[in-house]
Amino acid sequence: MNMKKILCLVLALMMTVCCLAACGTAKNDELVMATNATFPPYEYMEGDEYKGIDIDLAQAIADKLGKELVIENVEFGTIVAGVETGKYDVGIAGMTITDERKEQVNFSDSYATGVQVVIVKDGGKVKTLDDLAGADIMIGVQQDTTGHIYASDTVENGGYGEDHVTPYLTGADAVEALKSGKVQAVIIDQEPAKEFVKVNEGLSILEAEWAVEDYAIAINKENTELLEAVNKALAEMKADGSMDKIIANYIKAE
Ligand code: GLN
Repeated sequence: MNMKKILCLVLALMMTVCCLAACGTAKNDELVMATNATFPPYEYMEGDEYKGIDIDLAQAIADKLGKELVIENVEFGTIVAGVETGKYDVGIAGMTITDERKEQVNFSDSYATGVQVVIVKDGGKVKTLDDLAGADIMIGVQQDTTGHIYASDTVENGGYGEDHVTPYLTGADAVEALKSGKVQAVIIDQEPAKEFVKVNEGLSILEAEWAVEDYAIAINKENTELLEAVNKALAEMKADGSMDKIIANYIKAE
């Protein structure tokens, strides 16, 4: 083979490798958002339309970045890994910042406070937070959420032990289990809890807050450019009141 041929081969190989690398990731003119649209008022479906605070927030960020928003509706527990591998640009799903998740992804500045609360059945066994520790109490949670992670931790770490926790694919499924008596309480984020209690009779939220957390946007660790752009967009939206406006559209002051 002469030099020219070798050079050609090397070039062809390089092009193939580059294409493979680029094809596996999101396109540059798109902002691909992974979410789990079972979490009102942050993300939910109305017919076949995506709705919610995170959807409007993502749209506003995409507009600022001059990108087209693409929404991927996936299981909550797959979002962090999908962002880590570059399958999605961002994970926006009422997602709490935790140290474990921070090992896999970067988080933007926080855009909302999340509170874990306890939903119970009126007249049921759980009337206070202390009752959750009862030997015959089963707690329902949404799989892979902080409610799941913290509640199934050991008693020494402030949890109730795995044996006292049943994970469900969605918060709505956990609430159904509460209604039918399979679990005696559901630990879940406050705003979805309010929505679930609103549409299901005979359920209440305990007054005490079980845990207070920060919601943020998950971004691939290598994409620091996007992290900076998202933080800039968030700062602008906090400063000009558009963030408050989006939230007020979905969460009415009591
Ligand atoms: N805030 C919780 C978490 O990050 C639940 C989020 C959700 O279910 N979408 O684990």
